[in-house]
Amino acid sequence: MADLAKILAEIVDELSARENRGVPATYIPELAAIDPKKFGIAVETAEGESYVAGDATEAFSIQSVSKVFTLAIALGRLGDQLWGRVGREPSGQAFNSILQLEHEQGRPRNPFINAGAIAVTDAILAGHEPKELLGELLHFVRTAAGDDDIHINKSVAKSETNTGHRNFALAHFMRSYNRLYNPPELTLGAYFHQCAIEMSCAQLARAGRFLMGAPGMPRMVAPSRVLRINAIMMTCGHYDASGDFAFRVGLPGKSGVGGGILCIVPGKASIAVWSPGLNDQGNSKLGTEAIEMLATRMGWSVFSG
Ligand code: GLN
Repeated sequence: MADLAKILAEIVDELSARENRGVPATYIPELAAIDPKKFGIAVETAEGESYVAGDATEAFSIQSVSKVFTLAIALGRLGDQLWGRVGREPSGQAFNSILQLEHEQGRPRNPFINAGAIAVTDAILAGHEPKELLGELLHFVRTAAGDDDIHINKSVAKSETNTGHRNFALAHFMRSYNRLYNPPELTLGAYFHQCAIEMSCAQLARAGRFLMGAPGMPRMVAPSRVLRINAIMMTCGHYDASGDFAFRVGLPGKSGVGGGILCIVPGKASIAVWSPGLNDQGNSKLGTEAIEMLATRMGWSVFSG
């Protein structure tokens, strides 16, 4: 796809001139220090071609994008029983909101808001040491990407352990409803480390190939689960901006406060973008714009058939 290389180069060009790039996450001190000028984008196609542009081979903190991989592991392990622990409705609330959790007796709305992701990590931690779970998660991500050079940045995990008071509040709150089965410190230890996985756009786009559901792609979960994970990415992947992302882009995506977004074009492509500056909803500002530009120029949308 000659067009694709050209389009990615144009997007990098257009966005590098942008003054208003959003603000990197400051509540995790290690992330606040990242250069907001960084910008990378990568695409893997169903034909097996790889395209990269900008800082696409530089590793960044994938943060909440990791929730896609833990959800896949949880569905593989627990199957539909997982839905007893967490819902699958958009929350319409900030990713770290505590408000809804009280109204709904400690049952998180979906697996992508923080409370829901903590509940998913808690579910797959059962009977394991956090180290074993993180080993399994790294194995999953490395296998999906076909690349063993993917690691957890312990300083980022430590940084968030020191400042993650909101997540401690959410975890203890769920525990008070007996909705967390492990001690909150243990579950959060695993959760902060899962969020601290680092990958480049090139690696992340490769790790997302299994979600394309196309022939020849790595098969990490059953095809019926691939459809469901995409559905949840579409409806919940950008928190209280999920509707806006669906409107502008029309594709399933999952963002992280490190400024990364993984976006899937079912049957066609896996896209990863990284720009550390965030918008008001905690999603990458220029990352969202880049995917909107790419999807528009390629004619990619789940609504266009
Ligand atoms: N580790 C972050 C947190 O729990 C992840 C949030 C995100 O990427 N949206 O706050």
